[in-house]
Amino acid sequence: METKRSLIKKNWIAFCYTFRFCPTLLIYAILYMVASVVRSIASIHIISETLDLISQGADVKILFRSLLIYCIIMFVCLLFITLYNGYVVPRYRAIYEKKMQYFLFSKVKNIDMSAYDDPTFYDRFSRALNESIWTGFRIYNIFLNFIINVVSVLAIGTYIIVLDPWLILLIVLSSIINTFMIARNNKLWHQLFLTTEEERRYQRYVNRTFYQQKYAGEIKTTPISSLLINKYDDAVDCLEKKYNHMYKKLVLPQSIYLFSRNIISQAGSYIYLGYQLVKEKILVNSFGGMVAATIRFQNHFALLVDYFTGMLQQARYVDDFIWVIDYQPEVEKNVGEDVNEFNELVLNDIVFSYPESKVNNLNHLSMTIHKGEKIAIVGHNGSGKTTLMKLLLRFYKLQSGDILMNDMSYNNYNERSIRKQFSIVFQNFQIYALTIAENVLMRRVLSKEDEDRVLDALDKVGLKEKILSFPQGIYTQVTREFDMNGASFSGGERQRLAIARVFASNASIYILDEPTASLDPLAEERINKLVMSSSNDKTIIIIAHRLSTVVDADKIYLMKEGQITEEGTHQELMKQNRDYAEMFLTQKRLYEKQEDL
Ligand code: ADP
Repeated sequence: METKRSLIKKNWIAFCYTFRFCPTLLIYAILYMVASVVRSIASIHIISETLDLISQGADVKILFRSLLIYCIIMFVCLLFITLYNGYVVPRYRAIYEKKMQYFLFSKVKNIDMSAYDDPTFYDRFSRALNESIWTGFRIYNIFLNFIINVVSVLAIGTYIIVLDPWLILLIVLSSIINTFMIARNNKLWHQLFLTTEEERRYQRYVNRTFYQQKYAGEIKTTPISSLLINKYDDAVDCLEKKYNHMYKKLVLPQSIYLFSRNIISQAGSYIYLGYQLVKEKILVNSFGGMVAATIRFQNHFALLVDYFTGMLQQARYVDDFIWVIDYQPEVEKNVGEDVNEFNELVLNDIVFSYPESKVNNLNHLSMTIHKGEKIAIVGHNGSGKTTLMKLLLRFYKLQSGDILMNDMSYNNYNERSIRKQFSIVFQNFQIYALTIAENVLMRRVLSKEDEDRVLDALDKVGLKEKILSFPQGIYTQVTREFDMNGASFSGGERQRLAIARVFASNASIYILDEPTASLDPLAEERINKLVMSSSNDKTIIIIAHRLSTVVDADKIYLMKEGQITEEGTHQELMKQNRDYAEMFLTQKRLYEKQEDL
């Protein structure tokens, strides 16, 4: 009972949520409910009233007036019901979906970064996000119809009880059997849904590989497509077997359901009413009204059961829906003070580990970054360089220690305001199907000044000339996904484009997290040096793979296993002759060898 109650409560929450996005829908929903219930009751009432009037020998005029009133009521109700279903529902569904989509965008923007690292959370979140766009309105429809049928069943049930309590017992009994059978069917369907998830996921995977551009090259040049099609066939065979097995299991509950609904419920009640009429226990006019009431009651009860089991079936979606709207981030709260002007960053003995990590990914790390300082962070893969940047960007909470900006803890700042201080190019930066200018500014171009800013940034990364040779210049679309004339860039050019973002930004701190891997060493050196020589008030952090490209940094930090093990200028570190010096000399020898080849 508890679960049922909480199920209704959850549906109620989702139902009410619809009115948050579409408040005026409430008026239509109430009118729809009234029209539906009135229509049901009127159709029963008219039969008993007409039979009453005939048996009393009433005047034709009176009979006609009564029928006319009935027709007007029915017409108004049916007109409204038709308008509601044909116009109100589609219109509000579109409004709801649009508002829900924006709401979900804002939710996704505010998911904590740690959520992406937790596969169970992430799976549920992406499923809920995908489904929530339409789930909410579907729940609204189901729940509204559920309420309508509850009200109708209560109203008609009361009418029948007053006339003959035994009849209601018969109908309710058969309806309860129906409920169990429908529930059993639904359970079987749900089981089928769960046990076939893997095959359907595999089918989706194969579909994806066939239409995504990144697979096209290998699909054309290797026999992988036949292999994938074979696997697809296996999945289809497996699905077929599972479905056939389920159809067999469904035969019995389906037959009992039909028997109970058509034989026990309908035929039983007609036989009973006929018997009462023959025995003269009810009059002909009551008989007519009761037959009509029985039919209506059975229909409403069946619908009530359908909608209720529909609600049971939706339980998982409702849970996901409520879960997603209730999701409260730990980091992405958008509260706290704004950073005025960046002056200094102090990392004070910070300790951090990812949710599933068994070791500390950053281990008692301290450093101070002053305004205008040009620093480089180097170290082997996995030493924690990117993780450190993510913490500077306030993607995660620390386990212990603190990060202070201008002497105030990150905990007291609004995380969005912290991020505004930075312009970062990640290793796995993205290029978007937007114009070149938008890809550089990461927003719309608003003025001539913006255009100049884009051109200047492109000039710095060595792309200006090429881009100006395109007919649409900086307004050329990147990728051909939405524009046949879109520009395609090589790996190195994409990296330059991403780096141009830094030059075009207003941020105080620039971070380059090894975005130069696809560039040749000379180009990488040129770009790193260019970034390093940015104006004095810019603070620069470069994570570099090739140490020779950052020798001019004010300070170089070497990271190892989540800690800073060496720090100083290039000359100081070379003098220390420890890991940095060894790495530097090894790389130097390697590049010299490559150049000789
Ligand atoms: P670097 O940038 O120096 O190559 P990272 O900061 O990317 O190193 O990674 C540091 C450590 O943290 C590595 O052991 C890596 O496997 C681990 N790590 C990185 N990202 C995650 C994550 N999202 N979840 C769990 N562990 C991670």
